[in-house]
Amino acid sequence: MNKTGTTLQRVTILGATGSIGVNTLRVIAAHRHAYEVFALTANRNTQLLLEQCVSFNPRFAVTADELQAAELRQQLRSTGCLTEVLCGVDGLVAVASAAEVDAVMAAIVGGAGLLPTLAAARAGKKVLLANKEALVMAGDLFTRAAVSSGARILPIDSEHNAIFQCLPIDRDGRFDQNPGHGFSKIVLTASGGPFRDADLASLAQVTPDQACAHPNWKMGRKISVDSATMINKALELIEASYLFDTPANSIEILIHPQSIVHSMVYYRDGSVLAQLGNPDMRTPIAYGLAWPQRIDAGVLPLDLAALGRLDFTPADPLRFPGLTLGRQAAESRGAAPIVFNAANEIAVASFLAGQLGFPAIPVIIDQVLQRLDTSAPSTLDDVLDIDRRARTEALARLSAMAHNNGTKP
Ligand code: NAD
Ligand code: MG
Repeated sequence: MNKTGTTLQRVTILGATGSIGVNTLRVIAAHRHAYEVFALTANRNTQLLLEQCVSFNPRFAVTADELQAAELRQQLRSTGCLTEVLCGVDGLVAVASAAEVDAVMAAIVGGAGLLPTLAAARAGKKVLLANKEALVMAGDLFTRAAVSSGARILPIDSEHNAIFQCLPIDRDGRFDQNPGHGFSKIVLTASGGPFRDADLASLAQVTPDQACAHPNWKMGRKISVDSATMINKALELIEASYLFDTPANSIEILIHPQSIVHSMVYYRDGSVLAQLGNPDMRTPIAYGLAWPQRIDAGVLPLDLAALGRLDFTPADPLRFPGLTLGRQAAESRGAAPIVFNAANEIAVASFLAGQLGFPAIPVIIDQVLQRLDTSAPSTLDDVLDIDRRARTEALARLSAMAHNNGTKP
């Protein structure tokens, strides 16, 4: 217990220099009596990691490799900060599963987050799950690990956090599936991204900066592109089906351009429960940190009268073909979500590097899904093997496309 009578939680933040990581530190900075930073990790942005270490004085910092670790150690020495520096996946796994840690914010982007996030679940931590790709890749393994270790998975993705708030949840933080609760279906809301109303023919000319200019949320570049293709919503559909143990056909998607209703749960008596709020990730982050209590997140109160209206429309499959592919992957489960995610990561990286046209992202994913013959994974090694093969196939499809169409497919 700390001075204010609350229990001090020791938190590791995986991906501390990203959009979710920085917002997590903003919430923690306002509640230093309740949270202590145990470890902070980053991939390349060691300058920001250094500043964060000086401000929060964690026991450990983790960088991508030994070269960056040595540089950070030297810089930390000159500031007098005693943070110990580790590196690589072993370092990430160590700080995610250390005995002293209570909660792990899993906010690394992409499949790179899988091993440390899974390590936190296996070690029985409270896992604040932002890294949806980890769950998409290894949903079954992940949920089994959490049940056997007693880990609590608290969704940070705003939609899943909203659903968590609207479902009957037991003391262990799991959806209580007692049929008496009358659960009927989940509706995930989506902003529709920056090209919701754009002329379809103009999408071939879209630049990475235009795709990353999300109308409502300020996020990392990969998830911003995923929002523009609505592949983010497909990943979220898979994420929701694992998190809430619900078949994909009980999860609907609606475009809601204002991003105020973060998602909804329908019940058989006609009730619909929704969670509303301004689009600010500090709300789900604060909710995850404090659950089952609530703390001030520093977010402005919602002014519905000023907003005036909330709109909802179905998603157009012609505009968002990646969403259809993702729903098919969610319905088949097995290896399909791993392949879908891996091919998307490769295609998005190529688009962000200016080497692939925006409309070609789902085309690459479709080709990889069709070409890769894979059976359902049973072990973590199977998951990693399918992921590797899908990435290799996606790179091959990219070169074939570039070869056939000139430099930019
Ligand atoms: P970001 O790109 O802003 O940050 C990513 C973080 O991961 C950085 O700290 C980076 O250093 C680290 N990282 C990247 N590659 C790594 C690697 N190979 N090894 C170790 N660390 C690595 O991303 P973000 O927007 O903060 O998103 C993080 C995760 O949260 C994603 O899975 C995203 O889907 C999810 N999420 C984000 C938001 C949001 O509002 N940003 C909302 C919902 C869910
Ligand atoms: Mg989301």
